[in-house]
Amino acid sequence: MLFGIKCTRKDIRKIMKLIITTIIIMFFTPCTVWAKDNLMQFDIVKPPVCLNNKGETVQYLNNLSQKAAFSAGMAKRNKKGFPIVYRFSYEKSPKAMQKFIDLHECAHHQTGDVDRPLPPQNSPLQMMNESIADCIATLRIRDEGENGEAIILDALLELKKTMRSLGFPDSSFNSRKSNISNCLKKDVSAQTFIYDVLQHRQLN
Ligand SMILES: [Zn+2]
Repeated sequence: MLFGIKCTRKDIRKIMKLIITTIIIMFFTPCTVWAKDNLMQFDIVKPPVCLNNKGETVQYLNNLSQKAAFSAGMAKRNKKGFPIVYRFSYEKSPKAMQKFIDLHECAHHQTGDVDRPLPPQNSPLQMMNESIADCIATLRIRDEGENGEAIILDALLELKKTMRSLGFPDSSFNSRKSNISNCLKKDVSAQTFIYDVLQHRQLN
């Protein structure tokens, strides 16, 4: 008898085999899903137009030598002094996130951050620079396409996943999200916003 049903020895063997197979599937399915997720690849988007505060064209370079666990960008000048955005592992994120990173990094060039002394890690000044860069990226996405708001929402979802995986508390994501949501409602263009930042910094 198995579960109150009369079974032959052959039936019992069949049922036991089924139970064992089910247990194996239950244990292994999440791993397979994780592996698939981890291996998911996306096409890399075309970089946006980006000019820094001195009118120099910013170049975007896909950094293929260093594999990052998450998509990331870095705005800086190269050894020859040219303004660059280095893109790391963009293939690991959907287009909305890639776009957001590109424009966020471009904003560090547009506001002159790249040529100013690097503020200490997690200092109020650094937080301010990051909030400004997020805001400019948000305004550009909002105003450059028809479905700007949807792209920003997609990017926020990805940002939340990435920040969680990197161990940031939810409060960090929430303050970033609230800044981005406030920027979305601002009655200014990215250009005017950048102009005001440069004016405040006496860089224009
Ligand atoms: Zn930044």
